[in-house]
Amino acid sequence: MFPVPFQGHITPMLQLAGALHARGGVEITVFHAAFNAPDPARRPPGYRFVAVGEEGSPSDDLVPSGSDADFPGALLRISDHLREPFRERLREELAGVGDDEEEEEATPACLVVDSNLRGVQMVAEELGVPTIVLRTGGAACLVAYMAFPALCDKGLLPPASQDKAQLDMLLDELPPLRLRDMLFSPTTPHANMTRCLQNIVDAARSSSGVILNTFQDLENSDIQKISDGLGIPLYTVGPLHKISSGTESSLLEQDQTCLNWLDTQEADSVLYVSLGSLASMDEKEMLETAWGLANSQRPFLWVIRHNMVKSSHQVSLPEGFEEATNGRGMVVPWAPQKEVLGHRAIGGFWTHNGWNSTLESICEGVPMLCRPQFADQMINMRYVQEVWNIGFELEGELERGKIEVAITKLLCSEEARQMRQRAKDLRDKAVKCIEEEGSSKSAVDLLLKRIMSF
Ligand code: UDP
Repeated sequence: MFPVPFQGHITPMLQLAGALHARGGVEITVFHAAFNAPDPARRPPGYRFVAVGEEGSPSDDLVPSGSDADFPGALLRISDHLREPFRERLREELAGVGDDEEEEEATPACLVVDSNLRGVQMVAEELGVPTIVLRTGGAACLVAYMAFPALCDKGLLPPASQDKAQLDMLLDELPPLRLRDMLFSPTTPHANMTRCLQNIVDAARSSSGVILNTFQDLENSDIQKISDGLGIPLYTVGPLHKISSGTESSLLEQDQTCLNWLDTQEADSVLYVSLGSLASMDEKEMLETAWGLANSQRPFLWVIRHNMVKSSHQVSLPEGFEEATNGRGMVVPWAPQKEVLGHRAIGGFWTHNGWNSTLESICEGVPMLCRPQFADQMINMRYVQEVWNIGFELEGELERGKIEVAITKLLCSEEARQMRQRAKDLRDKAVKCIEEEGSSKSAVDLLLKRIMSF
């Protein structure tokens, strides 16, 4: 297996590894970039890990952050960066010179590769190793990416202007998406975007199958569109974190003490706030968020990642914040998110709508306050708000008064109570999909059969 070296990509790949391993019969080697490598102390047992490329901190252009980052450019560079070192490592593996002597006789059946690593996939193809692609995003997102060239041909992309009315235009072919949801970020160069999405679709089309981390009852019609559009086997195996719980893959240490604090809170009362592993805010947004949380008078658990505030090496809370919140809130550098979302005290999730976070929230029946920044986050937000109706967007500039109103709506309104109910209905459907005869469990078995057939 070969994941993209970001938290939101490593996690589902290792969860998939866990799901396959648990069904038995496969041995797993995880190739990984030498940077952002899974921590040896937290690696799941039973697999081999092989580092690819040079050790040390990656250059900034390989690790994007913030809403203005060129995320597609970084993905293209990462794929290029890993390509040649991977060729070397795979050649060694195929020649049986891996560093574990017991494994020397094993021939790789196939490479399960992140759909963003087209360069890596091509190396496997050249060396005669079949590939299966893992999409770590939702089905709706892949449908949107597959439609991208047609939108360019129609002259809709890149947008002729940054005019609000134009960006808000609904796309007939992709409801409920708007033109603006198709842009990774307002500043992403169109050429990088085009190449990046083309690579994803090419990787899918050249593979022997595509694995989706979603579930049938959530995205049935988009899964069908992908199946019709690609014409290759699809394996809809999600939610992977529920199929393969216990696979620990956090790159940062999770502060477990927040779970004890949650134990002391009332049911459905706490707002959980987290922007995932890459999104960020500037100092002013941080300040407004802090005072919005404080003024809301609601309990909160806030993840402030060490690099969450742009151009600030040390994140500090505003003066008077501690007194104003008076034990009503807890701040941690990184949380055990899945356990947090599953805690009875959590009443809502202020999220950036990364796909893993979105899926984890759905699987615990938690409604969302959506603040997407880049990549597929806007697409996920639109589905949360317009299709599943289990959350709403916090739009425009972050401002404390607006935040306070949004938090109160999420935790206390009748509308949000209905959203919570709908989220719980989706959670129940997810549970059915991962039961022994459920669609996702069956898809894991089919995938395993396919891998064994190579
Ligand atoms: N996560 C976590 N602790 C935190 C915040 C996030 O363990 O404090 C995990 C979260 O459970 C999810 C992943 O980090 O699995 C973030 O992935 P996502 O796709 O939501 O966002 P990304 O980080 O890729 O933007």
